[in-house]
Amino acid sequence: MNTQDLYIQNSLTREKEKFEPIEEGFIGMYVCGPTVYSDVHLGNCRTFVSFDVIYRYLLHLGYKVRYVRNITDVGHLTDDADQGEDKIAKRAKLEKLEPMEVVQKYTNGFHDMMDVFNTKKPSIEPRATGHIMEQIKMVEAILDNGLAYESNGSVYFNTVKFASENEEYGKLSGRVIDELMSESRDDLKKQDEKQHPSDFAIWMRADETHLMKWESPWSIGFPGWHLECSAMSTKYLGEHFDIHGGGNDLKFPHHENEIAQNMGACNCTPANYWIHTNMLLMNGRKMAKSDNNSITPEQLFTGDSEHISKAYSPMIVKFFMLQSHYGSTLDLTDAGLLAAEKGYKRIMEANRYLQAIENGGNGNEDVEEKIGTLINQAQADMNDDFNTPKSLSRLFELVPIINSHKDGKEGFSDISQQVIDKLKQTFSIYLFDIFGLKDEFESEGNAISSKFSGLMELIIDIRKDARTEKNWSTSDKIRDKLQELDIQLKDGKEGTHWSLN
Ligand code: AMP
Ligand code: ZN
Repeated sequence: MNTQDLYIQNSLTREKEKFEPIEEGFIGMYVCGPTVYSDVHLGNCRTFVSFDVIYRYLLHLGYKVRYVRNITDVGHLTDDADQGEDKIAKRAKLEKLEPMEVVQKYTNGFHDMMDVFNTKKPSIEPRATGHIMEQIKMVEAILDNGLAYESNGSVYFNTVKFASENEEYGKLSGRVIDELMSESRDDLKKQDEKQHPSDFAIWMRADETHLMKWESPWSIGFPGWHLECSAMSTKYLGEHFDIHGGGNDLKFPHHENEIAQNMGACNCTPANYWIHTNMLLMNGRKMAKSDNNSITPEQLFTGDSEHISKAYSPMIVKFFMLQSHYGSTLDLTDAGLLAAEKGYKRIMEANRYLQAIENGGNGNEDVEEKIGTLINQAQADMNDDFNTPKSLSRLFELVPIINSHKDGKEGFSDISQQVIDKLKQTFSIYLFDIFGLKDEFESEGNAISSKFSGLMELIIDIRKDARTEKNWSTSDKIRDKLQELDIQLKDGKEGTHWSLN
């Protein structure tokens, strides 16, 4: 593995693969967005924060990225398959709202939460209801290719035929199709419209009471849940694009069926790389309201929950998320959050001090070499499947070096300005551009340190003028008074620098 190249754990092949874009310099990335029928939960936030860091890192590498993240506002049924009510319509009845009011309400809430977590907006955020025509066209293409059939106004994807012709079906989720089929044959009687129980709806006939429905060649109905992502990714990224992402729980049936639909429509696999984020747990167990084992983002921010000892700010929660790899489960615990709070404050404090250093020394080979190695490792870690915890740990290894400079420890205050500038740049790029953190204490700390730096520049300037005018009494007075305050002035070829003793 070359640490200069980006490697991605591809869920499709289960291999860590070197990333090669289809078109040099450009990346098309599709991520399944939320179904907007209720408040966004912390698990969703973990997934979208993970993809935000991936998006930011790809931008950092210089790619022009088209990041498409959809809003599911129709077709996602309560059983996550072809049974039950539409999740949005169910909520609309419950809240006595128009379905589109439900969609707007929870889309707004989702956007607000994404802002709270300081994530970048996607390039395109298409809605399923805005792409009914594209979905109908895709159903037609799959029918034309003989991989779907109409039954009683609904259209089903023929999984048996597809699987018999194509080895791809089951590859992503690792489901053994033979098993699926023998098991399904037993259930055949139960599902009279389907030729086979593993077939799934790509168009569903709506009954009279159904709230969201459209005309189609087959019936007044609505698209199957999986279809929107196939249709919208094709529309905005083409039939074949670079990256497709989502949470682990979407591998089957959603993503497996998405691949089948794309193959069924154009005989092309949609994405080269599939990235799946792992689930958020709490206290070692699945987060579930029914189990009294859940917490909302708001409860975290206010501290209003029996599961936590205090409130945690959004950036602390985000920092906590970054401290685990997107592909591992993340276990939310009070102890973990407390540790994240300490870490976050420590690194932000070091960064604030670092950004204000303007008095590089004559250089120290050992320390500078160590700094250079850690900076390179931080990048190598991100290149290794976006390993944020490892990359962060390199920055943490740099913190004692920065603090030793602050304490004026021998060797450390000699670091050259050039290396300090590189360090400044690294911290600023990683913490803010790539990880998308904000310094929540910046206003206080930075305002003071930038004012302090400004004042010091002014004093150094006045002293320089005094010296030019051979006004030794003023220049000595400034130096002596600063010395009393433990502020050291160093005159060099490139001017005068100051340091705190
Ligand atoms: P949904 O709104 O349920 O379609 O989910 C939106 C995204 O959040 C999908 O990519 C899901 O896989 C992901 N997601 C749902 N639950 C969790 C969880 N507990 N941890 C991490 N991601 C999740
Ligand atoms: Zn999707």
